[in-house]
Amino acid sequence: MNIFHISAECYPVAKVGGLGDVVGALPKYLNKLGHQAKVVLPGYNTKFTTENEFDVKHQGQLRLGYFSFPYSVLKEKTNKLGFELYLIAIPELFDRPNVYSYEDDTERFTAFQVAFLNWLTETHQMPDIVHCHDHHTGLIPFMMAQAPIYQHLNQVPTVLTIHNGQYQGWFGFEKLNYLPQVSSSRLGFLEWNGIINPLASAIKCAWKVTTVSPSYLDELSEKANGLENLLRFERPKSLGILNGIDTEVWNPSTDELLPHTYSTKNYKTGKAKNKVFLCEEFNLDPTKPLFTFIGRLVGEKGADLLPEICSIALNRNPNEINILILGSGDSHVEHQLTQLKQFYQGNYNAYIGYNEKLAHIIYAGADYLLMPSRVEPCGLNQLYALRYGTIPIVRRTGGLKDTVLDIGDGGFGICHDQTSVFDVNHSITRAIDLFYDAKLFDQTRKKIMQIDHSWEKVAQEYIAVYQSLKK
Ligand code: ADP
Repeated sequence: MNIFHISAECYPVAKVGGLGDVVGALPKYLNKLGHQAKVVLPGYNTKFTTENEFDVKHQGQLRLGYFSFPYSVLKEKTNKLGFELYLIAIPELFDRPNVYSYEDDTERFTAFQVAFLNWLTETHQMPDIVHCHDHHTGLIPFMMAQAPIYQHLNQVPTVLTIHNGQYQGWFGFEKLNYLPQVSSSRLGFLEWNGIINPLASAIKCAWKVTTVSPSYLDELSEKANGLENLLRFERPKSLGILNGIDTEVWNPSTDELLPHTYSTKNYKTGKAKNKVFLCEEFNLDPTKPLFTFIGRLVGEKGADLLPEICSIALNRNPNEINILILGSGDSHVEHQLTQLKQFYQGNYNAYIGYNEKLAHIIYAGADYLLMPSRVEPCGLNQLYALRYGTIPIVRRTGGLKDTVLDIGDGGFGICHDQTSVFDVNHSITRAIDLFYDAKLFDQTRKKIMQIDHSWEKVAQEYIAVYQSLKK
């Protein structure tokens, strides 16, 4: 099958979070199964786009309301990522370093989607599947199904994957003229609560909707930032598929970002060496359990509670534990986490920012990874932690609930029910006990490294979805 993945992120071209990891991996594994999966991304000005070579495949013009923009479609020359990578370059809108958070994000991502459909149209391409990811590409199923200028594409099945239902890309009807002309009777497919809602539109118009874990699909019926009823209504065409991890990138025995690689055969010494490295870098004590957090410092991740969680844990266990935080986000939380450094020198540290290499070393060198998330559609961090022999401490929600079973229930992780300071500290205390139960601690670390969350398995589930639509 000829499958187009359209996304705002794709590792290593442009990544902000888990969406990037998924779009950077799934197409590669679809191709290994004999399909032709391609990725289409906006032409950002990132390290990858400036350091690699591209061929110009197409040039055109797109209309966005009263404005007109030239666009080019560039293809990465070597297919080094395991799939054909296309960038839609619209210099005025995307020749910038960041993926999101510009005032004109509505214009940027609407133009990207229109350019994609114009390109397909002008070059007479007829994909077997168009797979859209999150709200940034959520207007595509609507335009393909309803806009007369794209009517030749209306029999091409569309799939929407919801990686995060909190963000929906809302904008007002005063910008309706950004979209190609459609009959006014069709506008209901764009609207939710009186405004244009690209995520809602995709949920209505895509042939199939997937979420990145089965539990997240269940939770969205109860809590979806206003889309609960819609998701309940569209449930018959919806399905939860747990994300995989790219074991070519996330493999402790070959990971080039690690100071010391290791496998299940030498994980004890391998992890210990990485821990010593981390502890030297961050002035921590390698003989004590090392608790870590990696992620966006936002409410969804429970990051606002981290300062209190850390200070209570460090006060209750003076000089007995280490905590290391890697993240960026809410400036208030960043400030509080930075402040803590001066009170708990030698046992606590924080790196405020985004650092891919450090993330890998933390997964390798840590004993525990904290994920007190309020919302976690899938969560990749816990899957990387498992693979690297680091025991996850998670709140039972979304994908965390689907992938981590408490050690007390015969599982391998430490789980709690609430995103509360109390629950997390209770789990930290259990984790300290486990750390000193050397036999169980080591057995658990070895066991989790062998759990199979590879994309090989998961890619088959997506193929089954695509095939069900081609009948
Ligand atoms: P989300 O997409 O909600 O942010 P996921 O768990 O799905 O969460 O994916 C997070 C990804 O981003 C993981 O690959 C994680 O290692 C990475 N990541 C998050 N914050 C940072 C950071 N500050 N530095 C390096 N990597 C990070």
